[in-house]
Amino acid sequence: MPSRQLNLLGQPSALVKSNLYFRKEKMKTIIRNPTIVTASDTFIADVLIDNETISAVGVELDVRDATIVDGEGKYLLPGGIDVHTHLDMPFGGTKTCDDFYTGHVAAAFGGTTTHIDFAIQPKGGGLKDALNIWHEKARDKAVIDYGFHVIVTELNDQVLAEIAELPAQGVTSIKMFMAYKGILQVDDDTLFKAFEMCRDVGVLPMVHAENGCAIDVLVKHELAKGHSDPIYHALSRPAKLEGEATGRAIALAEVAGSPLFIVHMTCEESLGQLRAAQDRGAKIYGESCTHYMFFTLHDLDRPDFEGAKWVCSPPFREKKDQEAIWKALRNGTLSVVSTDHCAFKFDGQKSLGRDDFSKIPNGVPGIEERMMVMHQGGVNDNRFSLNQLVALTATNPARLFGLEGRKGSIAAGYDADLVLWDFKAHATLSKENLHSAVDYTLYEGHVVKGVPQKVWVRGELVVDGETFLGQPGNGKFQPRKVFEV
Ligand SMILES: [Zn+2]
Repeated sequence: MPSRQLNLLGQPSALVKSNLYFRKEKMKTIIRNPTIVTASDTFIADVLIDNETISAVGVELDVRDATIVDGEGKYLLPGGIDVHTHLDMPFGGTKTCDDFYTGHVAAAFGGTTTHIDFAIQPKGGGLKDALNIWHEKARDKAVIDYGFHVIVTELNDQVLAEIAELPAQGVTSIKMFMAYKGILQVDDDTLFKAFEMCRDVGVLPMVHAENGCAIDVLVKHELAKGHSDPIYHALSRPAKLEGEATGRAIALAEVAGSPLFIVHMTCEESLGQLRAAQDRGAKIYGESCTHYMFFTLHDLDRPDFEGAKWVCSPPFREKKDQEAIWKALRNGTLSVVSTDHCAFKFDGQKSLGRDDFSKIPNGVPGIEERMMVMHQGGVNDNRFSLNQLVALTATNPARLFGLEGRKGSIAAGYDADLVLWDFKAHATLSKENLHSAVDYTLYEGHVVKGVPQKVWVRGELVVDGETFLGQPGNGKFQPRKVFEV
């Protein structure tokens, strides 16, 4: 079994040193005879990469001075686009352990070439302040391409006016939280006013839909009863409260006449609301995240505090909810699979909540695992087609978030963000061969058939088998077009 024994990487400083004078000259590359997979087609052809873009797709392309890559017997997929990640993000007195370097390296090894991260409006500050902070975090470290959504935490007239200015800064989506009371949660007037503004300026609003007020009460009840274990995190956030918040957000968006993107949907209750809204013709879109298809709330009950690794919000649900998610992915109710990669180390970060589940940092890693486990669980296990995998992990995210025409597909004129996918190779996922800075993977021991073999970001070969070739600073901020789906 050709398992991937991947190199452990040095810190960015070491790479910067060794590569400072060796910025590789980009040249033409031909990928010969791969099976090209897009959201709509599967066909065999050559792909010519010229500098940063795909300059031709065709049979027996004849080009001199091109590096030839043999793609026969492999898939060529558009690079994955992950529109939900939290790199270098402060949370509950700590911060996520992957920054824009380690997170990007992990993403690249997993076949993801673009992501959209969340810039949080600072207390008392504006949306530009948020973007300035996050640009600074990413600029010198990035090895894949990236964009930002802005998280709106407090809305006054000035901030409302700033939403209108976001598209000029290449940012065409905002997010608001209906949970995390007293920290990130916004009220219904904020949601409604923001939706109205988004409608007028072509910005796509996103919500984290859980009823944070009721959850706050339930958490206090559990703690008062002396219930401190990780499982009570899940038990204090029932699916009905996700369903309620989803329905409320949808109603507000429909009345405001705004589109809406609902992040990390986990259960029958919320998916039913999404489906009903779409049946009414409303422009409501949904995302689920990889981990919800592979684990349930019972994983939070693992002994010795190990369940803390599975603490995220919304929480893991039941088997029936997993089936509801797979079905919604298959029939098109859900448009996107992201990771919500929000990595906290078990040792030293998750452990902050050893005596109180409400203090466990919320979030799980998955930026590297996404494409492999979705290919395994979706395609190999016959839940949806290979074309649907591409749609869910690249094409739909590009279309909804203003990257269409440049990213998310394979065609002449598109950025050469490509993954040569060895669908016959097996890998056993393990902390030992993954690249995030986190000290665990939820998928420890999971076997997948189908792994990225080579990965290009705008024509630059960043992953070649087990070797990382990318360079910090080469990943670029991607200004996005206004929402017009
Ligand atoms: Zn998130």
